[in-house]
Amino acid sequence: MESPVFGQVPPRNLLFIIYISPGFNKMGKIEVNRERCKACGLCIFVCPKKLIVFSENPNSQGFYPVEPSPDGECTGCALCAEVCPDVVIEVWR
Ligand code: SF4
Ligand code: SF4
Repeated sequence: MESPVFGQVPPRNLLFIIYISPGFNKMGKIEVNRERCKACGLCIFVCPKKLIVFSENPNSQGFYPVEPSPDGECTGCALCAEVCPDVVIEVWR
């Protein structure tokens, strides 16, 4: 004999999809320690928004360090900071 089914629980992935982080609309920004940047360009390569560019002015070691581009909006994803071998990028969000 079949029994009625009450209150079926939605699948877990549905719950995940409708979850919205309280800080979802915040943008980020980065700061680069230009004296410690060796200009390897890895952060430029990985930034999905292409927001990092080489500076036109060298640092005291003769490298042209990177800096955030004034155009576009940083998401604060932190990929640039994660890939930097010298840990010279700070991400704020
Ligand atoms: S935090 Fe993300 S979006 Fe912002 S500059 Fe770094 S890689 Fe680009
Ligand atoms: S990954 Fe680090 S060292 Fe390389 S260019 Fe970017 S900030 Fe400079």
